[in-house]
Amino acid sequence: MMAEMRIHFLGATRTVTGSQYLLETDRARVLVDCGMFQGSPNDVIRNRVPFAYAPGEVDAVLLTHAHLDHCGLIPHLSASGFKGPIYTTKGSADLTRLVLLDSAKLQEEFSQSHQRFAKRNPDRAAVEDEETMAELAAASKEDPAAATRNAAPAAITALREPLYTVDDTNTALGLFRGIDYGAEIQVAPGIAATYLDAGHILGSAIIRLRVMDGDQVRTIVFSGDLGRPGTPIIRDPTPVTTADYLLIESTYGGKTHEPQEEAIRLLGEAVKLTSDGKGVLLMPSFAIGRTQEIMYELNRLLGAGTIPHLPLYLDSPMAGKASDVYRAYLDYFDDDARKLIAGHDDPLDYPDAIVTNDVKESLAIEQAARPFMVVASNGMITGGRIVQHVKSLVGDPGMTLLFVGYQGDGTLGANLQQGAKEVRIDGQDLEVHCQVRSISGFSAHSDEPELLAWLGNFTQKPRTTFIVHGDPAAQAAFEPKVKALGFATAVPAWRETVELA
Ligand SMILES: [Zn+2]
Repeated sequence: MMAEMRIHFLGATRTVTGSQYLLETDRARVLVDCGMFQGSPNDVIRNRVPFAYAPGEVDAVLLTHAHLDHCGLIPHLSASGFKGPIYTTKGSADLTRLVLLDSAKLQEEFSQSHQRFAKRNPDRAAVEDEETMAELAAASKEDPAAATRNAAPAAITALREPLYTVDDTNTALGLFRGIDYGAEIQVAPGIAATYLDAGHILGSAIIRLRVMDGDQVRTIVFSGDLGRPGTPIIRDPTPVTTADYLLIESTYGGKTHEPQEEAIRLLGEAVKLTSDGKGVLLMPSFAIGRTQEIMYELNRLLGAGTIPHLPLYLDSPMAGKASDVYRAYLDYFDDDARKLIAGHDDPLDYPDAIVTNDVKESLAIEQAARPFMVVASNGMITGGRIVQHVKSLVGDPGMTLLFVGYQGDGTLGANLQQGAKEVRIDGQDLEVHCQVRSISGFSAHSDEPELLAWLGNFTQKPRTTFIVHGDPAAQAAFEPKVKALGFATAVPAWRETVELA
């Protein structure tokens, strides 16, 4: 008889953020991802709900990739008592360092400004705290076990504190163990892990666990975020053919992306229009992954003579550092990118790109002679240097705002993308006169046909395929199609526990 084994679904269930899964056997506990909830206040408050387990009793954390919604709570976990190793690919470890230190800095800054506000406006702060506490209580209630854990007093005092500090983060970074793709390693008693390229961002992994009990073995595969086949620079997602249990992401369930060629054509067209109109092309972009992809495509379009050579400003400190990490892992690149390197062309470098180092240089960009292009973070205009540029240029008909990535509901980016005529930035109401264009074909995720094609590689169907990391509508569209391929499916709820046979 096999020993007991269960999985606790602790995040990215019926939503796309907060990835966290605890696999428990009678000998070990491993956590796959420990991500931050992002988006609506209802989601974000879940970051303050106490962990569903004792962090000190977890043997190891296995991290699929460096995005905040997969790694963002790791410093909080370590500050709460986790002392074990954190396994991820070497490239992921380097990118995660950038992401977590940036997150800690933002948390500290936000906490400081919130505390200053509370000092000046004690009454309003008290009302806000009460609202937040109510949200927290509601979020905790979704898990009856957690509600009885009487952790609320600790949470109350923590409301205005950062979830973690830069110091906490440095401590957590000391637990990271960089590993290679394809090598099976022992991560906890009776549990071995292999990291396979997920083709999502540099270093991203599908994690295959083998749980050993005597001479019996069960295999559990966590897809992580699956990239799009054909994405430049990085390799395609690794096919997997067998598993006893599978967790698959479903971000783009029910959706089909624009083809990559169309995305590149639209990018070239926007550059040419900006050049002809002597304007400004402003591209909000995620610092890790998308920015490198855009630089790569601009470099190729220029090399092919498709676009004129406009000055390009890269205005994102994190993107610059992330590009350096990409360059340090040429062995993770796909064949095309390696060919460019062999021909002495740096695939991540647009010729004469101007990298801005500080805020002064960033502000000076707008005075430059037109036409020119700017790539700045963050991708949804919810923070970062892009906000200032949008604020200055949103009323300028000579500016084209080009969206090259996903815009979350309720963000400034989404409002502008949907054609808002007026926006409020830093308390100022501004009229929108710039051009707004969008490209949907650059995606770091497989669309539905690509997810189904990846599932088609399975020659032995898992006993259960858990559909995770998707909004309810996407999961509802995706599940019947997975079933139609002959898979037995389940869509777990937040904090649901499932016994695995
Ligand atoms: Zn991701």
